[in-house]
Amino acid sequence: MSEVGTRILEARHITKRYPAPNRRTLLACQDVSLDFYQGKTLGIVGESGCGKSTLMRMVMSLERPDEGRLFYRGKDITDIKGEELRRHRQKIQMVFQDPAEAFSPKMKVMDIICEPLLNFKRIKGSEREETARRYLEMVELPGDFARRYPHSMSGGQRQRVGIARALVLEPELIVCDEATSALDVSVQKSIIELLVRLQREKGIAYGFVCHDMALVQSLSHRVAVMYLGNIVEELPGEEVAAGCLHPYTRTMVEAVFDLRMDFGKPIEPMESVSAGQQDIYAGCPFRSRCPRRMEICESRRPALKEVASGHRVACHLYA
Ligand code: ADP
Ligand code: MG
Repeated sequence: MSEVGTRILEARHITKRYPAPNRRTLLACQDVSLDFYQGKTLGIVGESGCGKSTLMRMVMSLERPDEGRLFYRGKDITDIKGEELRRHRQKIQMVFQDPAEAFSPKMKVMDIICEPLLNFKRIKGSEREETARRYLEMVELPGDFARRYPHSMSGGQRQRVGIARALVLEPELIVCDEATSALDVSVQKSIIELLVRLQREKGIAYGFVCHDMALVQSLSHRVAVMYLGNIVEELPGEEVAAGCLHPYTRTMVEAVFDLRMDFGKPIEPMESVSAGQQDIYAGCPFRSRCPRRMEICESRRPALKEVASGHRVACHLYA
């Protein structure tokens, strides 16, 4: 295990476009730069459709950016392919929202957990059960679950199996894309505790993607806030509640407080804007919803600028 503080993955100026109806182009990610560090969690938060999963598919080398570069431990991996790509993929694993959908219902838990190891010929078929037991215990499940099928387990137990599977190749970065969003709050809490313990023990970097601001800020060392394909703010997790500056982040944080603390106050709904509804080539992506909109916001996209150590904001108010 290398030192905490090592940069595992760097995304630099990543842009991804998709074709949209009426010959338009949808900018799913626009000029995104982020870093993932050993033993640290980078939370990525934003409403549904803001481009979180698209960004993570590029981080995982499942899709290629149209512009920008990706570096793994300093090495440019943007264009790798074939066997090199296959080998590289071992280093970055993913925990899905619902492992019941991700895994074949016909596979036993031991086959699900050991499949990546068998693919890379790291174990023999005869070693499956013993290996699966070891990883089940690591995620605090009974070893006997190795012989079960996923449908006979609860959502939280299945998610632990998903985590065990993500661990077997000893990845340096694990992307959790809404990995706890479908679970009850108490189950969610126990899964988060497990992820935190595993990170402490193994020094894994996490990319924790979630639309729940309260949850993200509670476990992330750093939080990146996405809006319509853009990172609009990035800051330490502990500073989000009191120190966030971007009007969008403030809206999200205040929504959290409205829901949790002041039940007497009417809640202003945050209506969703899908990336396709707005032309985001020019101007600030948040301008149509921003309570503090100025003239410049119509025509010029604010750059992400450092306003304090470790705190970046893309907003003309802080230019
Ligand atoms: P999130 O994970 O934040 O909910 P996504 O990354 O899934 O957002 O999607 C971002 C935007 O890109 C959405 O408008 C979505 O419809 C669009 N999108 C995602 N994948 C594709 C694709 N393969 N083809 C076309 N549009 C896509
Ligand atoms: Mg998503």
